[in-house]
Amino acid sequence: MKELSIQYLEEAIEDSRPFAASGNVNMTLPNFDETMKDLLGVSIITTDLKCYSAGDHRQFIPMQSTSKVIGLMLALQDFGKERVFNAVGMEPMGDFFNSISQLESYDTSKPFNPMINAGAIAVSAMIKGQNPANRFERYLTFLKEITDNDDLAMSEDVYEAEKANGARNRALAYFMQSTGTLVTDVEEALDLYYRMNSVMMCCDDFARVGLFLARGGRSPRSDDRLIPPHHLRTVKAIMMTSGMYNSSGHYAVEAGFPCKSGVSGSIIGAIPGRMGIGVIGPAIDAKGNSTAGGALIKKLSQDLDLNMFGENGGLS
Ligand code: GLU
Repeated sequence: MKELSIQYLEEAIEDSRPFAASGNVNMTLPNFDETMKDLLGVSIITTDLKCYSAGDHRQFIPMQSTSKVIGLMLALQDFGKERVFNAVGMEPMGDFFNSISQLESYDTSKPFNPMINAGAIAVSAMIKGQNPANRFERYLTFLKEITDNDDLAMSEDVYEAEKANGARNRALAYFMQSTGTLVTDVEEALDLYYRMNSVMMCCDDFARVGLFLARGGRSPRSDDRLIPPHHLRTVKAIMMTSGMYNSSGHYAVEAGFPCKSGVSGSIIGAIPGRMGIGVIGPAIDAKGNSTAGGALIKKLSQDLDLNMFGENGGLS
């Protein structure tokens, strides 16, 4: 086992960076271009609040699908497990994250899980608030608190791009309206989903979300529990089985801890009782996962003995 240090992380980054070559940058995102392809950064924050960062860790990118973790926490808080999973399943899916066919061919009453687009749109519709602006405000306030970062904000450019490229998500949402899965205003649910995806974060912020999950849902400011342990258990289990798109099985085997990725190249990792991990690596594979970031996650797991299914249960 290697010792966690900034120097170790710098070496791990340089070992993993070549994997960016096999990925592509998602050019539908504003300011994402070829010059970003080789970026790779990581932050690890341990439960005793030591922070280790390396590589391009100061780069800000949109949350994209990593927002689905936050949305699920809030919906569980607002409605409880039974009602949330009445609207959305908890099973992994072999199809792509924006698959339409799964909505009709498997169970027309609900999408597979909260980590795919259809499921996340259904979950977004469950975040409480007096009006759409207030719902997003709640999301952002919660995010600021758990990352201990009041500067977090949504990028208007990313939000506009999400809307402009949202045909597929709109199709998913209207399909769910037709089957009665989505009973609230469809455009409002979509708008919140786009906004949630558009918040800009860097590795430290992603790592702080992971740390929140790893540290019993405690606020880094007050140390109060903001989300009860039974909901966190659910969120981490869903991340483990469905967080890395249709490569989740692969990551469960090769990394062995709950992760969630986004098509901006973001990854959140949570090792319960030990640390939160935040990675950015904008070159993604066909399934949506950062190629260099994924390689890094697997390397960290091996070198730092993070696999929860290992001999020590990832607790060494
Ligand atoms: N903008 C993407 C969408 O909703 C985010 C999905 C993702 O990161 O997986 O289609």
